[in-house]
Amino acid sequence: MDVKEAEKKAEELRSILEKYGHYYYVLDAPLVPDAEYDQKMQELIQLEETFPQLKSSHSPTVRIGGPPLDAFEKVRHDIPMMSLSNAFSEDDLRAFDRRIQQAVHDPVSYICELKIDGLAVALTYENGRFLRGATRGDGTTGEDITSNLKTVRSIPLHLREPVSIEVRGEVFMPKQSFARLNEAKENAGEMLFANPRNAAAGSLRQLDPKVAAERNLDVFLYAIADDKGRGLASHKEALSFMKELGLKTNPETKHCENIDEVIDYVNSWMEKRQDLHYETDGIVIKVNSLRQQQDLGYTAKSPRWATAYKFPAEEVVTTLEGITLSVGRTGVVTPTAQLRAVQVAGTTVRRASLHNEDLIREKDIKIGDQVVVKKAGDIIPEVVRVLTELRDGSEAEFVMPEECPACGSGLVRLEGEVALRCVNPQCPAQMQEALIHFVSRDAMNIDGLGEKVIQQLFRHHLVGGIDDLYKLDKEELLKLERMGEKSVNNLLEAIDASKENSLEKLIFGLGIRFVGAKAARTLAEHFETMDALRCASREDLLAIFEIGDKMADSIVSFFENQEAADLIDRLLALGLNMTYKGFGKTAGSTTSSLNGKTVVLTGTLENFSRKDAKETIEMLGGKVTGSVSKNTDIIVAGKEAGSKLTKAQELGVEIWEEAQFIEEANGS
Ligand code: NAD
Repeated sequence: MDVKEAEKKAEELRSILEKYGHYYYVLDAPLVPDAEYDQKMQELIQLEETFPQLKSSHSPTVRIGGPPLDAFEKVRHDIPMMSLSNAFSEDDLRAFDRRIQQAVHDPVSYICELKIDGLAVALTYENGRFLRGATRGDGTTGEDITSNLKTVRSIPLHLREPVSIEVRGEVFMPKQSFARLNEAKENAGEMLFANPRNAAAGSLRQLDPKVAAERNLDVFLYAIADDKGRGLASHKEALSFMKELGLKTNPETKHCENIDEVIDYVNSWMEKRQDLHYETDGIVIKVNSLRQQQDLGYTAKSPRWATAYKFPAEEVVTTLEGITLSVGRTGVVTPTAQLRAVQVAGTTVRRASLHNEDLIREKDIKIGDQVVVKKAGDIIPEVVRVLTELRDGSEAEFVMPEECPACGSGLVRLEGEVALRCVNPQCPAQMQEALIHFVSRDAMNIDGLGEKVIQQLFRHHLVGGIDDLYKLDKEELLKLERMGEKSVNNLLEAIDASKENSLEKLIFGLGIRFVGAKAARTLAEHFETMDALRCASREDLLAIFEIGDKMADSIVSFFENQEAADLIDRLLALGLNMTYKGFGKTAGSTTSSLNGKTVVLTGTLENFSRKDAKETIEMLGGKVTGSVSKNTDIIVAGKEAGSKLTKAQELGVEIWEEAQFIEEANGS
């Protein structure tokens, strides 16, 4: 890059950063996630380092925060309130340590503190009495927010000693208060706060102290602005002194003897921070000795004796490059966002499910958009929102096709459903998904037949439907990639062994709508043979306690379908067992099928509060957990179930609708 190009790029970055900064610092309503701002800022810092002639005192790289709002009295900070340099990796932390070691000749130790994600404040006490509180503003001039700060209960109005002192800290909003506030705002149809940091800032920077009083704000104090005449030698002593005065300091602070201990501390908080009742976006590392701090001094923007390690971003911005479609076992066509590869919370994300067309419209997603991506429940990537402000007109509307992308037959939207479906039973994509379901753990449980192998079998036209599995030819299989004699033998043996499965496994494997593994067992127990089940009328089915209208209709229409009937005949001819082998287990046995199971609740249940549902499951011997993993046995999915449901589907976890759950609960 030559100077001219660099100059152009720097101007571009400055103007973007100023715009983002205005929304963040002045309006308390960020346009983009912090990681996006940080990344642009790092780019500008690099550019100014490579081309020093581009440096300017007006650059956001040397400016702190934003200007104070006119609505407030101004407060001058005699001792500036500065920003912090950033570290994003272990290497950055080691480089910080090296710089310190080079500048300071005696041993250095560090204090590590959680970086509280809130709003920086300066509190002035005179003779122990709270006199004034101010925001950081642009570092030298802040806003007088004394009346609002007086409503923060953890800020003492009187210190335990009559000292005159200025202390600094962070006012924040606990996660729970933030959730409640946004819920209330949503109910009132008001704009939501983007995160607890902005909610805290927005609550302090408004004129009516009554509003701040209602917001349940809290504070952690982390510095004394001046160290005059107190005989304090270290930051650690300063924190203890503040505590003695009755000021609230953070209990997680740690004194580390060297950078390795600092790195251990940083790593220990990567996961643990989720359990805190407030947000932290990093760790602040400070040189402990106040004399060493003084020797190290300041840059225009931040102290040289401290740095802020930022945790890997959980919300990032990337380009949505396209939308692809996949057809599921039941014919549901699901759109998936293809994303420019991006790191989210430590892993690379390339795609995210968009669930259905309605969601695409609701979120106003277009191809080419800049989108915010996060990992829902820290597992499944999700497109959170579109940055419509960043559109340049080149973005394209996504149009859902009218035909199935796999077989070309017309898609239909069933009444009351948001999903579009391919209803062609011969659709190859559906067949493939149906086969994946057929061999899964709770169905025929065929070892060695994973998704990849099934795709391979389809690709080579060795299977077209379920029954083809039982006609596989050894010689043909041996021709496939990564298929040796041993694995082929094992596979064929496993397929053969599955013929002996008890009836319920086959019923579940057939993939009859609404019939989960538990209902399949009930049907097998009740009817004992496939023939008896095939001949069952709607009334016969409804006479079974656990079977409701929806399931009965679905079973009847499944068996009325000639293709299903033919398939069952073919399977019978191939030697599959069609009888229930679990005699002795009587229908309606008292043990619930939730007994000993790990269950996850998701979406809105119409007939249960979350608490009631949890209690019911526990009463039936199950355990409720918050997130879906391979240890989850059952997921109970209510209305608008989102990412947990998707995850459950991906992992092949048994899915219950509310109706099935009610049946189980009633049966207890
Ligand atoms: P900073 O937040 O990176 O660090 C300085 C601040 O950390 C201090 O002012 C203080 O408020 C806070 N802090 C919290 N705990 C602390 C502790 N224990 N000790 C010392 N300080 C502590 O710097 P900044 O200049 O306030 O803001 C820059 C950051 O703000 C960026 O890194 C970015 O993440 C965010 N930002 C985001 C946008 C956006 O559009 N999303 C825009 C501007 C800034």
